[in-house]
Amino acid sequence: MSTTYDVINPATETIVTTIEHYDLAATDATIEKAAKAFETWRNVTPADRGAYLRRFAAVVASHKEELAALEIANSGHTRGNALWEVDNVVNVLTYYSAAPERLFGKQIPVAGGVDITFKEPLGVVGVIVPWNFPMPIAGWGFAPALAAGNTVVLKPAEYTPLTAMKLGEYALEAGLPDGVFNVLPGKGSIVGNRFVTHPAVRKVVFTGSTEVGKAIMAGCADQVKRVTLELGGKSSNIIFADADIAKAAASAPGSVFDNAGQDCCARTRILVERSAFDTFMEHFEIAVKKFRVEDPSLATADMGPLISRKQFDVVQTFLDEPIAFTGSAPTGPGFWMAPTVLMPKNVQARSWREEVFGPVVSVMAFDDEAQGIAMANDSEYGLSGSIWTRDVGRALRVSRAIETGNLSVNSNSSVRYSTPFGGFKQSGLGRELGPDALDSFTEVKNVFISND
Ligand code: NAD
Repeated sequence: MSTTYDVINPATETIVTTIEHYDLAATDATIEKAAKAFETWRNVTPADRGAYLRRFAAVVASHKEELAALEIANSGHTRGNALWEVDNVVNVLTYYSAAPERLFGKQIPVAGGVDITFKEPLGVVGVIVPWNFPMPIAGWGFAPALAAGNTVVLKPAEYTPLTAMKLGEYALEAGLPDGVFNVLPGKGSIVGNRFVTHPAVRKVVFTGSTEVGKAIMAGCADQVKRVTLELGGKSSNIIFADADIAKAAASAPGSVFDNAGQDCCARTRILVERSAFDTFMEHFEIAVKKFRVEDPSLATADMGPLISRKQFDVVQTFLDEPIAFTGSAPTGPGFWMAPTVLMPKNVQARSWREEVFGPVVSVMAFDDEAQGIAMANDSEYGLSGSIWTRDVGRALRVSRAIETGNLSVNSNSSVRYSTPFGGFKQSGLGRELGPDALDSFTEVKNVFISND
């Protein structure tokens, strides 16, 4: 372990702690340890593997306040969000703790014998996590991977390693055998890249930017390595004139400014049917001005700072179109930015087309259902989105027409641990969460047993 890294509190710009980064040799040694642990972990009985995961969940739950405080300090997440994020890890572990005893194969009718299928674990799974939701995104990878009988090497993002490192300690405290779940803080180009190139890592689960995701997919091709990608987004919040406009407007700030807009599901495009546009904007302005940007450790905070000075600077470059109005933000130290509402002149605006990953939203009017759908689909991304209407037929038609993986109608909530999550187009490949995620962590083996 060669280099050290200062972890910064984005709300104060002070150093939270200094950690050591894994170098290549330490990464290789840990991957080899995980490969060795796989030989015993895969043979732990299904009931016992489930029990390990429930114990892991219980230890995480018992450290809820500690983990939340760490995420507030390391990531600037609001207290409300940080507590939800710990619960999400607990829920995902508990949900998948039932999976080992339900990893059913099939019995397929054939001539001359019996044909059965098994869902076999892959081996070592590498999970690469971005900085925006360090705990949930880690859990969505490691919980189903472990449940299916794999061992895990997990690399947190450089900015936000602290909660992942704690989760690694809690796995050991819960009694998981050494080597089954390993957390390796370090650089993407060293630790993350080694997950791609090391032959003992049989699958990479990557969440992050589309640019790095493409490079990882290309790298994995060399060993035909399995890969799940959760990438960028440019999601739309489509509001029809027949909707409850006051409700749609009141909830719109949360759909894009939550986590300071650093959310792959952020609805950074708001499309409003023209006849309701002015009414929507009146209600929306009130809601944006009420959105509390403040010290994230306060229970009242709706939004904290951006993660870094670099991210702050990137987000400023998106202020390229007329500003309709803004909310407010603290001044002084910290990477603070007020929620900002743009009214782009046309759909070529960069802020309309590219992922922002900051508290900036663009609003445009549309004339009819067909135009609204076309505007929403005019993107290389397809991760999330919302539709507001009281017309059930329209809700169904538009839901089917929007090219995106996760939609909500008369709601902006897109993530539930028991339902699938993932993207269309360049937003990703494969699905996480829900009952089917286990298929991404197993291979189907077919066995024919002769009657003779
Ligand atoms: P990033 O792509 O820069 O980094 C993500 C992770 O990959 C980090 O851990 C990083 O260290 C690692 N990495 C970087 N280069 C690597 C390489 N060459 N090989 C292996 N690993 C490497 O992304 P970020 O800035 O941390 O996160 C923001 C992005 O994540 C946004 O684009 C956002 O939309 C996306 N995201 C997507 C989802 C989703 O579920 N679709 C969820 C959260 C974030």
